[in-house]
Amino acid sequence: MKGPSEPMTTCSVCSGAIPEGVTVDGHTALCAAVVAKEKAEAIELAWGVIANAYGGAWDDAPPEWREAAEAWRERFYAPAMRERARRKHGE
Ligand SMILES: [Zn+2]
Repeated sequence: MKGPSEPMTTCSVCSGAIPEGVTVDGHTALCAAVVAKEKAEAIELAWGVIANAYGGAWDDAPPEWREAAEAWRERFYAPAMRERARRKHGE
């Protein structure tokens, strides 16, 4: 018998409760796809802002800013672009 104390099945991606009648794997796969897409979009948006800072002339930026921007690019933007290229080639 199901009681209120019974733990709900929660999604490992969104932490949301998975309704009955929905498979956990199905929900999690869908959620992961949504999160990945949103993350890719967020990275692209952020990159648009960063890349065009100082009118796109990074040479005008303080060295600390440039280092931070380059570190961000290597950590987030470059992997996202590699991932996109990988998908495009259907691997
Ligand atoms: Zn979820």
